[in-house]
Amino acid sequence: MTFNKAKGIGAREQLTVMHRKQRPLHSKPGTLILSSVVFTLRFMKKVYLKKKISNRIANGHPWIFANEVQKIDEGVNDGDIVEVFFDNGKFAGKGYFNSRSQILVRLLTRDRKIEINEQFFVDKISDCWRYRQKTGYIENCRLVFGEADELPQLIIDKFNDYFVIQTLALGIDLWKAAIVNAINQIFSPKGIYERNDVPVRELEGLPQHRGFLSQPFDTGIIINENGLQFHVDLENGQKTGYFLDQHDNRGAIRHIVRDAEVLGAFTYTGTFEIHAAHYGARSVLGIDISDNAVEQANRNARLNNLDSVVKFEAANAFDVLKQWSRDGRQYDVVMLDPPAFTKSRETIQKAITGYKEINLRGMKLIRPGGFLVTSSCTSLVSPDLFLQIIAMAAKDARRKIRQVVFQTQSADHPIIREIENTQYLKFLIVQVQ
Ligand code: SAH
Repeated sequence: MTFNKAKGIGAREQLTVMHRKQRPLHSKPGTLILSSVVFTLRFMKKVYLKKKISNRIANGHPWIFANEVQKIDEGVNDGDIVEVFFDNGKFAGKGYFNSRSQILVRLLTRDRKIEINEQFFVDKISDCWRYRQKTGYIENCRLVFGEADELPQLIIDKFNDYFVIQTLALGIDLWKAAIVNAINQIFSPKGIYERNDVPVRELEGLPQHRGFLSQPFDTGIIINENGLQFHVDLENGQKTGYFLDQHDNRGAIRHIVRDAEVLGAFTYTGTFEIHAAHYGARSVLGIDISDNAVEQANRNARLNNLDSVVKFEAANAFDVLKQWSRDGRQYDVVMLDPPAFTKSRETIQKAITGYKEINLRGMKLIRPGGFLVTSSCTSLVSPDLFLQIIAMAAKDARRKIRQVVFQTQSADHPIIREIENTQYLKFLIVQVQ
C-alpha cells in the first residue's frame, strides 16, 4: 500500500466535505468534474478483500459484504467512493461504501479508469436509455433497474415526460443531484419526483422521504399502455405509482380472455382486468384489499369506457377466493397478482403456503378448459419453486394443468444471471382441466 495515511486523511476529509457540498441540484458540470477527478486521483481510499471468499464478486456480483473484507484504509467515510482489491492485488472495482450496511460496498464500475463524477451518471443513464430504445420500451419504462444497469440501488421509472426516482442506499443517494442533472440534460422532462418513502432506506441510515426534484407539477398523470389509458398517482400510488414490470404480461392474456367471464384478484389500479375487458372479455370482476386502489381501478375503467364490462370491489382476496370456491362459483379465467409475500429466507415457508393457497382456490374457481393467470414477485421464490408450488396446488385441487405461457418481467427490467434477485417476477398462464 503506497497511500500516505498521515498526510492523506485530514486533507481528504476536508475535500470530501467540500465535494459533497459542491453538489447543488443544478450545478455546472465542469467544476464538479474537475473536483471529482482531483478527489479521485489523490484521495481515493481502498478496501481489500479476504483471500477465501466465494467467486460471487469475481463473477460479476456488485455487492461486497462486511465479512468478505480483510482491511479498509483509515478514514473512509460512509458514502465515499472506494477502490476494492482482491487478496492477490487485482483490482475488483470502484463503488460506494457504507459501514452501517451489511453490504459494505456496492460496485459501480470494474474499470479503474472510469471516474465516478457527474459525467459518469450522464453516460450511464444515456446507456440505459439506449438499451430501452433498442428493446422497444420508450414511452413508459423502467429507465434504470439498479444492479442490472450497474447503478446499484438506483431506480428510475419514466412515465412519458415524467420521472420517478428512488435512491435506496446512502452511496447513491449522495449523487441524487447529479442523477437529476443527468435526467434534465438527456430528457428535458416535465417533472421529476422522488419516491424514497421506502423502509429499506433505514438499513442505510437514511430517512424515508418523498417530494419534487423539479418544479412542482400535478402528480396525477395519465399514461398509455397497449392502446389503453391509465391514471397514475406518482405521489401516493404504490411503489413508483405503476407496475411497469407486467407490461408484456398484460398483453399475454389477449386471446384467452375473449368472451370469458373473468375474476381478477390483487388488482391494484386494475391494469390486467381493464386489458381483459379491452381484449373482449364478457365480464370482469376485480378484487383488491385497498379502497384507494379500487377507486382508482373503477376510475381507469371509466377512462377507457369499459366500466359496463369491468367492475372492482374492495375485499380480502384470501377470504373471497376461499368462500367463492366453497360456494361453487365458476369463471373462465382467474388472474392473481399478489404483492411479494416475503423478503426474508426465514419466512419463505409462509410465502410458499400463501402462493399454494391462493392458486389452489383460484383453480377451483375455473371451469374445465379455462385458464389461471398467476404471478409471483417474491424474488426468493425461484421460477422452479414457483412451478412446483403451482403443481402442488393443482394436485390438491384435483385439477390437471398444462402450461401455456411462462415468462418473467418485461425487458426494461433486464436480468443478470449472476445477480439472482434481478429476476424476481414469475408470470404463468396454465390451462386448467
Ligand atoms: N396487478 C397489478 C399489481 C398488483 S400489486 C398491476 O399490474 O398493476 C398487489 C395488490 O395486492 C396491491 O394493490 C394490494 O393492495 C393488493 N393486496 C394485498 N393484499 C391483499 C389481499 N389480502 N386481498 C386483496 N388484495 C390485496
